[in-house]
Amino acid sequence: MFKVPETHPRYKSLMNRERLVAGIEAGITSKQGLIAHGRGEAFDYLIGERTLPAAMKATEAAAALVLAAKKPVISVNGNVAALVPEKVIELGKLLNAPIEVNIFYWTEERVGKIKAHLEQHGAAHVLGGKADARIPGIEHARARVEREGIYSADVVLVPLEDGDRCEALIKMGKKVIAIDLNPLSRTSKHATVSIVDDLERAMANLISVIKEKKKGNEKGMFVEDFDNQENLEAVIKEMVKRLEEDELGVMNKQWVQQMRRKGKAEWKRH
Ligand code: ATP
Repeated sequence: MFKVPETHPRYKSLMNRERLVAGIEAGITSKQGLIAHGRGEAFDYLIGERTLPAAMKATEAAAALVLAAKKPVISVNGNVAALVPEKVIELGKLLNAPIEVNIFYWTEERVGKIKAHLEQHGAAHVLGGKADARIPGIEHARARVEREGIYSADVVLVPLEDGDRCEALIKMGKKVIAIDLNPLSRTSKHATVSIVDDLERAMANLISVIKEKKKGNEKGMFVEDFDNQENLEAVIKEMVKRLEEDELGVMNKQWVQQMRRKGKAEWKRH
């Protein structure tokens, strides 16, 4: 893996890219996963690369939902396995929930590699290899699920979902928690709770909220109090506000003035 200096202002972001590239080299992440990540990064810029209050609210609702679930399952794809394997495992243990490998660009080999990767990080029992059931209404490989996993789950946590499968899971009567930086995606719109935040930040927050709730320190949010549509609107408003404030525009004005001054000075010299 390329060594990014820790002092680099974009250290975290660059390290995530390195992890994904390493994921591709290890046969875990798909090349297309890089493009999906890029779309996420662009949206992260628009929210200022931080957790918005709306995302924290969604995280609390998500924590309440998984804690109340009879059979929660965590769905993992190639990007999630490369970026946050430890956090997925910690969350699984905390909730006593199985982890299931579920990927769009499916090959038996890739499923096996993701499974082995998670097991190397300490996962005890990873589902996904058997894929003995299908989500109705889906033509592609992400329809392939395990009967004792996603198929019979009541709550599915799907960091980085695709929209049509999210819709199909909801049609099956399941509650879906999505982590997706794009508030406009079909996934965000269809999920029961959409956490519009970076995967790593969202998983860390979710783990700590669940720990607090388990200790009884944090009651606050009930799922019934949460309106996903309203929450997505709050995120979009925040993005629009940032664009209207136009931090970049202010910098540009200063830059233009600086360049003009520099230009005049150069011109006088000649
Ligand atoms: P949909 O089908 O839901 O409309 P889509 O076609 O964009 O969305 P994908 O191509 O599967 O779905 O893209 C994955 C989504 O995951 C993107 O919307 C992107 O914003 C989001 N994403 C990618 N990387 C991250 C990340 N690290 N953290 C959070 N979200 C991410």
